[in-house]
Amino acid sequence: MVNTPTLAQALAQAHTLGLARIDAQLLLLHTVGRTGSDRAWLLAHDTDVLAPAPHAQFLALCQRRAAGEPVAYLTGHKEFYGLPLQVDARVLDPRPDTETLVDWALEVMAPLPAPRVADLGTGSGAIALALQSQRPTAQVLAVDASSDALAVARANGERLGLPVQCVQSDWLAGVDGVFDAIVSNPPYIPSGDPHLAALTHEPLQALASGADGLADLRTIVAQAPAHLAPGGWLLLEHGYDQAEAVRALLTQRGFVQVQSHNDLAGIARCTGGQWAAGAPAGHSPGQTVK
Ligand code: GLN
Repeated sequence: MVNTPTLAQALAQAHTLGLARIDAQLLLLHTVGRTGSDRAWLLAHDTDVLAPAPHAQFLALCQRRAAGEPVAYLTGHKEFYGLPLQVDARVLDPRPDTETLVDWALEVMAPLPAPRVADLGTGSGAIALALQSQRPTAQVLAVDASSDALAVARANGERLGLPVQCVQSDWLAGVDGVFDAIVSNPPYIPSGDPHLAALTHEPLQALASGADGLADLRTIVAQAPAHLAPGGWLLLEHGYDQAEAVRALLTQRGFVQVQSHNDLAGIARCTGGQWAAGAPAGHSPGQTVK
């Protein structure tokens, strides 16, 4: 391969390294100083020549991608719910599947003029910022146990001009107040799951959660009622095979309207329930809470 390939040749070279076409396009656009929304530009410029220095830089990025680093970390950008987020290895790479949780949260928030919402384990701030951008009158609290993650979320909020409040807390342990909706995409992969081997570039504490993957989901389900307004909703993302287990956790805790929603691939990926209107915050009907 010449070291001054055309853009089309550089993309072909990325293909031989095993990269998906979209990943190669995003990395090439990043290398030539353009954003991911400029893919049409690439097609129109496929005979342009890539000089040796950017070519070397592009190949280095392709090699890192081939070794498993998320494209979002390599470019520093990820679009989520139409928002351009800055992301890096301090936070989980936001997945499009999580947009299902955002859609559902917007539905339950829709009847309220100024809904109070908490996003637990906010990471980059993706969910909290998407909700705030769609509902400017909402009061959105972004919670994370990691100060590194909160720094990323806070910077995204400031850059996008979205007034999400950030607070450091281990789930709801250090959070005051009552919410109309609590949403979370917590870690939920079983700690021995071989799938984790493919995700070594992302923070383990954002991915793995005990032997069955449900440890953090259990904690959130246990804590949430004390922070839900009557009629408030708890909406949770979980693993592809955990919907039934999460529905059982919510039902046992006394939630009503317990149901699951499918992600873009048709997998039951989110489960939620409503804290019955009329139930005092924290009271779990028919159950002693320890
Ligand atoms: N859905 C992600 C994955 O399986 C995990 C995200 C999470 O643990 N919250 O790759």
